[in-house]
Amino acid sequence: MKYEVKNGWKDADEALKAAVYDFANGYIDFLNSAKTERESVDEAVRLAGQVGFKPLGEAESLKAGDKLYAVNKNKGIALIVIGRRPITDGVGIVGSHIDAPRLDLKQNPLYESDEMAFLKTHYYGGIKKYQWTAIPLAIHGVVVKQSGETVKIAIGDEGDDITFTITDLLPHLGNSQMSKPAYSFIEGENLNVLVGSLPTSEGDDGKKVREAVLGLLTEKYGIDDEDFTSAELEIVPAFKAKDLGFDRSLIGAYGHDDRVCSYPNLRALLDTETPEYTAICLLTDKEEVGSMGNTGAKSRFLELALLELLDKTGAGANALNLNRALDRSLCLSADVSAAYDPNYAGVYEKSNSGRLNCGIAISKYTGSRGKSGSNDAPAELMAKVRAIFNEAGVLWHTAELGKVDEGGGGTIAQFVANLGVDTIDCGVPMLSMHAPYEVAAKMDVYQCYKAFSAFFNRK
Ligand code: MN
Ligand code: MN
Repeated sequence: MKYEVKNGWKDADEALKAAVYDFANGYIDFLNSAKTERESVDEAVRLAGQVGFKPLGEAESLKAGDKLYAVNKNKGIALIVIGRRPITDGVGIVGSHIDAPRLDLKQNPLYESDEMAFLKTHYYGGIKKYQWTAIPLAIHGVVVKQSGETVKIAIGDEGDDITFTITDLLPHLGNSQMSKPAYSFIEGENLNVLVGSLPTSEGDDGKKVREAVLGLLTEKYGIDDEDFTSAELEIVPAFKAKDLGFDRSLIGAYGHDDRVCSYPNLRALLDTETPEYTAICLLTDKEEVGSMGNTGAKSRFLELALLELLDKTGAGANALNLNRALDRSLCLSADVSAAYDPNYAGVYEKSNSGRLNCGIAISKYTGSRGKSGSNDAPAELMAKVRAIFNEAGVLWHTAELGKVDEGGGGTIAQFVANLGVDTIDCGVPMLSMHAPYEVAAKMDVYQCYKAFSAFFNRK
């Protein structure tokens, strides 16, 4: 049959249009209530609880149709529906990440300079630093007090009473700044968030604004100066996710990468009833910095979850069974791809680019230069996946990240594949990836949901 990259709106009937717009509304709500990895986990647990999912740790024995979740240190989660076949026949995993590029507060962030209070940051993930100045910013995260008590923070979003920002230089005085290359004209050490300017009558001379801000934090959140050292506070754009375009066909939002795959992944899993193979929605942290640590895709969390499943289904939680299960499993590594952007046509190879509105983009490989750092998925798996998608009427196309040698990037695919799992990349093509405001097409978000549903329910 002819390989065709087709715009999904071309012969969309009314039912499809309604489904696409309806699904997008749920996604926009998710984006606005989950701006960080921790908030995404909280939201996943809340949504799963509504449809009867139970903590895996509390289950004693498991049978087909059981619905479970396991949280990984508040920053990752696996949601599971037990299938008819034994775990040793392999499982179906859709893995996506819930961390996003942002600015993290340093451990000693609050300082005063010239009667203005600022918070020092250290950026997380691949950002263009100049994009983070002169926009409204919010603070999301947790402060864990010495007692172990966790204070959750979410301040500064649009619609709330306050916001924050990082200042930029006025063009009138920007001559030398504007002549520098874009990667250096805003220095990382200058990404300091303006948080106050009102001095208190108490405190050291020269630090009265800092003292005043600290006083407000203590009064409102019970946080003192040293509590910042055991906090994870993330500076994120304050914009709300919204319909974009006169026709409302697009969504503008912070953090589409990779909530735009994680939400369809979550929804597809929550809607799955007793599949043939056990279905797992895996939401991971730390992808934007290399999937490191005990909450990233390189951690042992997936293996532990599978051992729990082997144990509680009575199969025997031993190394042989675990490795058999992994070896026979399939994984869609669900992450965003670059959509062809006519404003920057020179960096794309059009016939192998992701395209807006053309459905889920499948990438056999990612990486840079000679496919370095890529999981190059086997042709046999590509054949299986396209058969699953075609049978379910999923709109899909293939994509690679820009021209050869233009740049590149990686995903969690290689780390899951390292365990023996047949893994392939696929996901939503997007514009302005890693910018504070990214753009994705509603058609593609919905097609991802259809694709993941078909994968979880494969025979
Ligand atoms: Mn990503
Ligand atoms: Mn990314």
